[in-house]
Amino acid sequence: MKLHWQILVALGLGIKRNWHIFLALLGGVAAGIFFPFQAGEPTAFHDFMFLIGQGFIRLIQMVVIPLVVSAIIVGIASMGDSKQLGKIGLKMVLYYTFVTVTAVIIGLSMAFIIKPGESLQPFINKQEQTAVQEKVAQVENNKSNVSNLILNMLPGSSLTNPDADNQSETKLVQIIIAVIIFGCAFAFIGDINRPVVSFFESVFAATMKVTDWLMVVAMPGIFSLTFYAVSKGGLETIKELWVYVVAVLLGLAIQLFVTYPLILKLFSKIKTTALYSAVAEAMMVAFGTASSSATLPVTIACCERRAGISSKICSFVLPLGATMNMDGTALFQSLAVVCIAQAYDVHLSFLSIILIGVLSIIASSASAGIPSAGLITLALIVQGSLGLSIEQVAPIYVLIFAIDRILDMFRTVVNVTSDTVVASIIASGEGELDYDLLGNQEVWKEVV
Ligand code: ASP
Repeated sequence: MKLHWQILVALGLGIKRNWHIFLALLGGVAAGIFFPFQAGEPTAFHDFMFLIGQGFIRLIQMVVIPLVVSAIIVGIASMGDSKQLGKIGLKMVLYYTFVTVTAVIIGLSMAFIIKPGESLQPFINKQEQTAVQEKVAQVENNKSNVSNLILNMLPGSSLTNPDADNQSETKLVQIIIAVIIFGCAFAFIGDINRPVVSFFESVFAATMKVTDWLMVVAMPGIFSLTFYAVSKGGLETIKELWVYVVAVLLGLAIQLFVTYPLILKLFSKIKTTALYSAVAEAMMVAFGTASSSATLPVTIACCERRAGISSKICSFVLPLGATMNMDGTALFQSLAVVCIAQAYDVHLSFLSIILIGVLSIIASSASAGIPSAGLITLALIVQGSLGLSIEQVAPIYVLIFAIDRILDMFRTVVNVTSDTVVASIIASGEGELDYDLLGNQEVWKEVV
């Protein structure tokens, strides 16, 4: 069977097993189309749905910090010797960087082939256009913003001081970096780490249990989230922005259906179809919640209970992926920045294109795995590469903003899937992948 058919069949199989989540997604989209916001404003019913959806997200986010901390400590400490830790860590960084670079290349190619920005030129008047063109022409790259971005990722006293810099945006990345450092220390001190590691093993098991309970209410949660996003974005917005929407979706589809299957083929013996159906729930929850972090418990459950990836690899590679590997986000960001430049008819030099790519890689990994995080860090790329503030490109940013929640759902699916692809390749290379479990759907355990 041709590869793309195999993948579609795999998704279909996943859906058959998880019809309730899939129904919630479809129902949410359909209801959102039929009951859009009234004159751009939510009705009481929309507010009610918003409440349910946000309640669901909050509940699963409650699990994220204990899960991330316990998974990373247990994952790193169970690597035992520092050599294995270094080897797996290096592989992980290389694969994550590789998929993100590929994503950026696809994003930029889509932007230059489809030229989504050109169809947005009517939204800008001549004066605004000239002002932006002049600003870009005289711009010195604002390096201070880039270094701020990197500095904000590093943990500091703000981690222990609840009053300081309390932004969840960068906070999770800081926590992860601090936990990795402490995890390595635990791995290095030998057997004396036992009490702490068993403590975190219990925390990890308990968070997975809480996740199982929360998944019981996944159906109304996912329905409300999808309904609200679609009814807010609405078909009207898609009409104005359809070229941009097509470019983003096409880019994401290439990453999902061409890049990952190729990487899997090249670096492992894993069948894309088997992996995609094993992680279908995680993809659907990612779509519904638009949050890689909130999806993390389900991603881990799918990878361990179905894809056959050892818990050692899952608990190290997946939490890091959920917060720092955002290739779908990087793809959207590089594309969106070029789209903004095109809308203002700004000529981009080769160097500024490279700068957009590099900044997208940095900004995407600095984005937390929460809804719209990529939209916020997009501002840093626009500033860093074009030297423009968001206010200066407001007419286009507002349009991108209006449609973003729906596109966010799609790019989060890509972000989550790539974590599972990388985890499975590393596991297969390390002899930590149970091919029998992955290939035998009959014995898969329930995840949702
Ligand atoms: N929502 C995305 C995620 O959680 C991040 C983003 O692109 O906004 O993976």
